[in-house]
Amino acid sequence: MTGSVRQGPVLSVEQLRVTYGRVEAVREVSFEADSGSLVTLVGANGAGKSSIINAISGILRPRAGRITFEGKDITRTPAHRLVRAGLVQVPEGRQILGTLTIQENLQLGGWHSERGGIGEVYERFPVLAERRDLPAGSLSGGEQQMLAIGRALVARPRLILLDEPSMGLAPQIVDEVFDVIREIRASGTTVVLVEQNARRALAAADHGYVLASGEIVHHGPAAELLADDRVVQAYLGVGT
Ligand code: ATP
Repeated sequence: MTGSVRQGPVLSVEQLRVTYGRVEAVREVSFEADSGSLVTLVGANGAGKSSIINAISGILRPRAGRITFEGKDITRTPAHRLVRAGLVQVPEGRQILGTLTIQENLQLGGWHSERGGIGEVYERFPVLAERRDLPAGSLSGGEQQMLAIGRALVARPRLILLDEPSMGLAPQIVDEVFDVIREIRASGTTVVLVEQNARRALAAADHGYVLASGEIVHHGPAAELLADDRVVQAYLGVGT
């Protein structure tokens, strides 16, 4: 990588535990993401993927463990401060505000940040630029996902966390979403992608972690996981 200062991992998660009352959703999960890489956490419904993402992005407080971003401990840093620091989440289910315009939704992405990148988002997603004054609820599911990703990119993050971006979308639209995710990585932003659609996610990723019942049961270079029959048969039944 030319010009960039290469240090340790951008994100490091150590022995993370998340509980909801007596439910142990995440048990001692550790993983990391190197600068500029695309790391994916795959697993079935209920495996604990969203809980991990929400703990990293400051939306929920972990029971135990340590999370560091660019070498700083962020285990208890609230979400809005993390956005300012360059760590942004694209939430599950997109969370678009349908009655607000596309432009207003994008403005919300810049709310906690001095780095306003709406112009760049419009360049990347012309369909959003053309319809900027329309209610976001008028967009298709795929376009709303692009808006959710665009809203995160407004803050020009150095780490972006994507929670199930392919959920509920037609296969052709899923292709487009994955193209965008690859482009984000190619532009130098570190990506942590959480997906039930394990095959697609591993095909796009550098490194993969397979999650089952709140624990990491396999990890390694994504291509190796995809080529491992035991992993494929036991855990990667979902997705095309
Ligand atoms: P999904 O794809 O359905 O979002 P996931 O892998 O992201 O699944 P989580 O949403 O993190 O999994 O859920 C992990 C476990 O924690 C599940 O058993 C779930 O039922 C439980 N859980 C999640 N949120 C809560 C909550 N608010 N209260 C109680 N239990 C919860």
